[in-house]
Amino acid sequence: MSRQDGERKTAGKTTGKAAERIRERILSAVYPRRCPVCDGILSDGEPFICRECVGKVRFIREPVCMKCGAPLTGQQEYGADFRERQDFSTGFREKQDAGQSSRKVVPPEESAEFCPKCRTAQHIFVQGFAPFLYRGEIRQSLMRLKYGNRAEYARFFGKALAVYGQPWLERWKVQLLVPVPVHPARERKRGYNQAAEIARVLGKEIHVPMEEDGVCRVKNTKPQKELTGRMRRRNLQGAFQIRAGTRIPARVLIVDDIFTTGATVDELARTLYGCGAREVYAACASMD
Ligand SMILES: [Zn+2]
Ligand SMILES: [Zn+2]
Repeated sequence: MSRQDGERKTAGKTTGKAAERIRERILSAVYPRRCPVCDGILSDGEPFICRECVGKVRFIREPVCMKCGAPLTGQQEYGADFRERQDFSTGFREKQDAGQSSRKVVPPEESAEFCPKCRTAQHIFVQGFAPFLYRGEIRQSLMRLKYGNRAEYARFFGKALAVYGQPWLERWKVQLLVPVPVHPARERKRGYNQAAEIARVLGKEIHVPMEEDGVCRVKNTKPQKELTGRMRRRNLQGAFQIRAGTRIPARVLIVDDIFTTGATVDELARTLYGCGAREVYAACASMD
């Protein structure tokens, strides 16, 4: 990252809330908010997703893996009851129907199970969750967020992490969000880091700061999807670095768009443990 970039980001952090609201208003006038599923323009009564699409996406339903949050029973149709959450189309109300909803996600307890992947993999992050499966509309949406210049979809995914992840987040009490950094060359090309865009929204929702500049990717790794499990780990070794002077608290939450094997989260967690973190958790927008 260039020095100029660093300065720009530092200046952005000191911007007041009022200025931020103005900025958001201008942005939504110039770039109207779009539905993350159909890409249609959202009306005022549809802050996150349009009415037509609210029934097309489903939260992962429990029981989920006590380690990574993957569904334990077949949810091939990524079918849980998202439609019940009418608040998703009208805006998530704070403390929405806590306990009254027929669907309640509770973090898995010690007696719960591991998914087949976590039974063999030794993850070094403590625990993780993801609200969606990386399938269908969600997959398309995340691809547009990443490659199609639709950073604004992060509003939807960040909010979904906050709503779905509430039971986990309340228990973990994380002090810092760390989005998985992309290599500066890739970020320059794309214009933003999709994980950071999601983490920024989540951070505002749960009032936890985000560290973006202090954690960086020093290795421009090959795309993980082309590699097998062991190759993924080797590919990632030494990929991340914490800049001198960056304070890493005890409880850290890694934020990313897709959780696949967990190799990326593990490698970043390893780096964070080496710099003062005691418990590293993961929140990913989707699970492959
Ligand atoms: Zn839509
Ligand atoms: Zn698992």
